[in-house]
Amino acid sequence: MKRVILSVKSSWVPLFLIILFITVTTLFAQNKYFADLRLRMVKTQIEARGIKNENVLQAFLNVERHRFVLPAYISVAYKDSPLPITEGQTISQPYIVAFMTEALELKPTDKVLEIGTGSGYQAAILAEICDSVFTIEIFESLGKKVKLLYAELGYKNIFCKVGDGYKGWTEHAPFDAIIVTCSPTHIPEPLKNQLAEGGRMIIPVGKDPIQYLVLLEKKRGKIREETILPVRFVPMLDEEGKKY
Ligand code: SAH
Repeated sequence: MKRVILSVKSSWVPLFLIILFITVTTLFAQNKYFADLRLRMVKTQIEARGIKNENVLQAFLNVERHRFVLPAYISVAYKDSPLPITEGQTISQPYIVAFMTEALELKPTDKVLEIGTGSGYQAAILAEICDSVFTIEIFESLGKKVKLLYAELGYKNIFCKVGDGYKGWTEHAPFDAIIVTCSPTHIPEPLKNQLAEGGRMIIPVGKDPIQYLVLLEKKRGKIREETILPVRFVPMLDEEGKKY
């Protein structure tokens, strides 16, 4: 009896090894496939359009954008365009994420605030470059989903909360940089107040359908504003769903 069991068990060993081999090579091929797509995205969409900051480029190579999109969009995750996520929201086009990130001139010691977590992709890019990222999302379903994803991906320096980002995150202020990825019609005063001395903020501002990216810098307590380029972002909403 014992001999029969032993022989059955040992006949499973080659099969197990074959399955293990197929699984490992498939995973390896899949990782290589996505890494190649990321490299192409960085070269053709980001570097080719003038983004030079090495830390920003490296972050785009590191973060697996396909993990942040809906399953139906995995095959086009590295495309040169925004993509829909749930709640009628979007994950921004890679180049816009890169442009806004570079404009913040981030340092490795920086603490950053993001308004509009969405898919979580922008915050993951920031987390590769800076010390810590605080991100706020108004839709509970998106906020909860992203928290789980960050735990799965092992991000320990991203802190998420569900709430109205118009008000900022007072407990953790001031921030060395603030990035807003939804568009209000005016620059929220609480965000200006929560910007550290020498800090930078980038925000899309305007009335539908015309919005502009505005870069702000706080120097000796005074804020200097510069309008950079026309953009199209989803609106910033309050807790009742009304546009700011
Ligand atoms: N940074 C995101 C882009 C998401 S789109 C990404 O990388 O995927 C902008 C997000 O802002 C949406 O998810 C929207 O729900 C959210 N949003 C809108 N108004 C908000 C508010 N007042 N506070 C926080 N988030 C808000």
